[in-house]
Amino acid sequence: MADGSETAAPDGAERLAAVCAHLKEIRGDLRSGPGGDEGPVERVLAAARNGGDVAGTLAVLHAVLQAGGDPQGLHGYTDQAGAIRGLRLAGINTTRAEPVYLCPAGRCARYWWPLPAVPVPHCAISNTLLRRERL
Ligand SMILES: [Zn+2]
Repeated sequence: MADGSETAAPDGAERLAAVCAHLKEIRGDLRSGPGGDEGPVERVLAAARNGGDVAGTLAVLHAVLQAGGDPQGLHGYTDQAGAIRGLRLAGINTTRAEPVYLCPAGRCARYWWPLPAVPVPHCAISNTLLRRERL
């Protein structure tokens, strides 16, 4: 189910990848922000899991994070997440098949390169381990 028709990322996949990879930080920032609770990110997760309005809840989360003092909002979380698949492949040796881990739900654009002695992360959306693929 990985090939062909599923190559196009769903709407909001890059923002969702920031949530998937940085959920703990986002929760912490929300708790210390003006709203004082994790509601905005919980609504994003619920929408992603249940097929709800992901783009709309992401927009609200983004605005709440900005209101909490981070002008970048959700975009501030995307750098080391490798949120945009393919963009960061340039500097990496692709002459052999590199394993890469992708969001198991296929809902977000997150990917993760295996690191020695680092356990495979969980997807925050589906609560399962990222799935292994080869480039
Ligand atoms: Zn994910």
